[in-house]
Amino acid sequence: PAHPYTKGLLNSIPRLDQKGQSLYAIQGLPPSLLRIPSGCAFNPRCDRVQDVCHTELPRLVPVLDAEGADLPGRRSACHFWKETLHG
Ligand code: SF4
Repeated sequence: PAHPYTKGLLNSIPRLDQKGQSLYAIQGLPPSLLRIPSGCAFNPRCDRVQDVCHTELPRLVPVLDAEGADLPGRRSACHFWKETLHG
């Protein structure tokens, strides 16, 4: 995944090989639609949040592999998609 929210959702899927272990849960709650945070709407719940996430709305950008080649059909709206994907 190239977005922390997607990564969190995938990490929260129950797995048979982890029976008996606690499920991963994304911290916090979805924002009120009447009070959507400035910048990235996911910033109150993101474990990768930085200052820029509070002030700038991330653009939807193509996702590239480690060699810089476009991954067809893959897009992310995260300032730190590279770190999320490759980090
Ligand atoms: S832009 Fe910032 S707050 Fe939003 S998902 Fe990416 S790292 Fe998290």
